[in-house]
Amino acid sequence: MKILVTGGAGFIGSQLSEKLLDQGHEVIVIDNYFTGQKSNVHHLMDNKNFELIRHDVTMPFFIEVDQIYNLACPASPVHYQHNGIKTVKTSVMGAINMLGLAKRIGARMLQASTSEVYGDPDVHPQVESYWGNVNPIGIRSCYDEGKRVAETLCFNYHWQNNVDIKIIRIFNTYGPKMHPFDGRVVSNFIMQALQGQDITIYGDGMQTRSFQYVDDLLNGMTELMNSRDGFTGPVNVGNPNEFTIKQLAENVIKLTNTKSKIIYQPLPQDDPMQRKPDISLAKKELDWEPKIQLEEGLIKTIEYFDNLIKGGRINEYTGNRK
Ligand code: NAD
Ligand code: UDP
Repeated sequence: MKILVTGGAGFIGSQLSEKLLDQGHEVIVIDNYFTGQKSNVHHLMDNKNFELIRHDVTMPFFIEVDQIYNLACPASPVHYQHNGIKTVKTSVMGAINMLGLAKRIGARMLQASTSEVYGDPDVHPQVESYWGNVNPIGIRSCYDEGKRVAETLCFNYHWQNNVDIKIIRIFNTYGPKMHPFDGRVVSNFIMQALQGQDITIYGDGMQTRSFQYVDDLLNGMTELMNSRDGFTGPVNVGNPNEFTIKQLAENVIKLTNTKSKIIYQPLPQDDPMQRKPDISLAKKELDWEPKIQLEEGLIKTIEYFDNLIKGGRINEYTGNRK
C-alpha cells in the first residue's frame, strides 16, 4: 500500500514509518520539523519506497494514498505550550486537511488521539465511554481540546461523508528516539540520571502514569489501522501497569546506577493526578495487549540516550524548543 504519515519525523512517526517500510509498503512522510528531526529518518532516505517532504499540516496537501496516519502534533507539554495557538491549529486544521484528503481520495485515516482527552480523570481506570474532565481554559487545553475537536471532526466526516476513520487514544509512550529535551518525564529522568544531574519530580511524586513502550504502541496502531470495516474506535492503547512518578524516578536511578539525587519542584497547573487505561476494547477488537514491561523498556531507552550522549549527538537537538 501507499501510506502517508504526518509527523513522521517525530518520535512515534519515524518508528512507524520504519515498520511500514519493513512490511513492504511505500511511505510518504510530511513534517514541519517543529519537534521532529531529519536524523530520525535519515537511515530510511536510501529506501526507494520512502519519501520525506517538508510540509505543515495546517496547509492542505494533495497526494494519492491508501492510508493516512495523522500524527503531526507536538506531544510534550513543554512543546505544545510553546505556542498554544499553533498547537490548536495543528490539531484542528491538520485534522480537517487530512480528513478532506481522505474524503477526496477514499483513503482510510487513523487519527492519533490521546489519553489527555480524559483530562484529570475522576473515573479510574479510564474507559473509552468516559467523557473526561478537561479544563477548557488551562495551560494544557490547547492540546487536550485540540485533540477532542480532532476526534469530533473524524466522526463528523465519517457520518456526513463516509470517511473511513480509526481513532487511537494513546497513553504515555516512551522509548528510543524521544526528543532528549522534550521535557517529558521519562526523557527528563533518564537524561538527568545519565548526566549526574538532580532528578526533578514535580509535586510530591504520588501522581501516577502508565508507561507504554513504543514497540507495543506501534503494534496497536497498525492493528487498529487494519481492523475490520466499520470499527472506528476510539480505542485506548496503553500499558495498564500504573506507577507513581516517584517509583519511576527510583527505577531510573536503579537502572542507571546514578548518584543523582531526587529534588521536588512545583506541580504544573492541571497536571492529571492519575492515569491508567482500560484496554478491554483493544483486547477484544484488535487482539492486542502490551508485551514489554517498564524495566525492560527503560533499559532499552537508557541505552539509546547513553549512546546519544556518548556520541556527542545531543548537540543536534539544542536548536529545538525546550
Ligand atoms: P513528537 O513531537 O516526537 O512528534 C510529532 C511530530 O509532528 C514531529 O515530527 C513534529 O515536527 C511534527 N509536527 C508538529 N506540528 C506539525 C505541523 N503543524 N505540521 C507538520 N508536522 C508537525 O511526538 P510523538 O510523541 O511522536 O507524538 C506523535 C503523535 O502521537 C502526536 O499526535 C501526539 O499527540 C500523539 N500522542 C503521543 C503520546 C506519547 O506519549 N508520545 C501520547 C498520546 C498521543
Ligand atoms: N514530571 C516530573 N518531572 C519531570 C517531568 C514531568 O515529575 O521532569 C511529571 C509531570 O508533572 C506529570 C508526569 O511526570 O505528572 C508525566 O509528565 P509528562 O510531561 O511526561 O506527561 P503527561 O503529563 O502529559 O502525562
